[in-house]
Amino acid sequence: METLTKKATALKTHNFSAGPAILPPSVIKEAAKGILNFNETGLSILEMSHRGKDIGAMADEATQSVRDLLGLTDEFEVIWMTGGASSQFFIAAMNLLNDDEMAAYVDTGTWSSKAIEAGAQFGKIDVLASSKSTTYDHIPRKYKVPTDAKYLHLTSNNTIYGTEYTTWLPETNGVPIVCDMSSDFMSRPIDISKFGLIYAGAQKNLGPAGVTLVIVRKDMLGKVTRQIPVMLDYRTFIKEKSMYNTPPVYAMYVCMLTMRWIKEMGGLAAMEKHNKKKANILYKEIDANPLFKGNVEKRDRSMMNVCFTMHNRELEPAFAKFAKDNGVQGIEGHRSVGGFRASIYNAMPIKSVAFLANLMRQFAEKHG
Ligand code: PMP
Repeated sequence: METLTKKATALKTHNFSAGPAILPPSVIKEAAKGILNFNETGLSILEMSHRGKDIGAMADEATQSVRDLLGLTDEFEVIWMTGGASSQFFIAAMNLLNDDEMAAYVDTGTWSSKAIEAGAQFGKIDVLASSKSTTYDHIPRKYKVPTDAKYLHLTSNNTIYGTEYTTWLPETNGVPIVCDMSSDFMSRPIDISKFGLIYAGAQKNLGPAGVTLVIVRKDMLGKVTRQIPVMLDYRTFIKEKSMYNTPPVYAMYVCMLTMRWIKEMGGLAAMEKHNKKKANILYKEIDANPLFKGNVEKRDRSMMNVCFTMHNRELEPAFAKFAKDNGVQGIEGHRSVGGFRASIYNAMPIKSVAFLANLMRQFAEKHG
């Protein structure tokens, strides 16, 4: 993580943006090189055919890296799509759920609510639990997954509210989990056997906006009776190795570079260790500092998006300015909740997190 630390120092900015978000500096450097001269081909990656062997090899490496890092078995396929996680809200339901079948959803925030709304256009939706009445300050745990549910839809990390399924997943009695992992994808190892489908927009832990990863267990597909438009049918992407049409080549390239970096850093177990350390620094400060408080129940605290407010809300603009004047960017809370949100994805250096914690301490000394 040393290069990360160096970059933070060199730029004197600390990018806590929720997404698109910080990427490893070595990845950005390499990605910039690819624009000028991709793999010494004398061409920019931006002007190369996706049908050529260079881009083909790049795409194969990207897909293989997803398989390696997540430990995917042959039952799973990896596909690269566009349209963001927001499109997966309906594409997943369209591919997996018949009109007369039921899927279970848990509502843990804005993104789950949107997935519920989109899913309801394709089948019956049973919302098993919601934490909406307490402003999504926890992950509901008390519900039973009906065994006739086609799938259980979860949002593994709630980017806006700052909760995450870090140590707990519900017992599903064999019902496969369909999971929106947009904001904690590849931040830690997962037990893939629990999942039937995972989707994630790339623009937090993996790359730029413009590409969406889908990982699907093959036996989930081919079970709906409706006609699925060819460009929305997961089977098209599997059959054509995500090259039925022109894929977002450059975005895939940056994801591939980021996964090379994750591997060099020691894989997902190392990411988890690094992410835990960072989250602990901030939560420890929030709990000890007399001016600040965390927004959510401790056991559900996100390792990716640390959301907090001030006891005296009137002081918030002053702290926002103090942070900004000191080179801290992107810590405003989502426009729907206010307060603060420090997003500390994989590429965020420990040094930047410690820097923010230190600013909070300094601010408390002045205003406490
Ligand atoms: N799900 C989650 C958990 C998110 O954080 C976001 C975006 N912040 C989305 C879905 C929507 O993603 P996109 O903008 O790629 O459609």
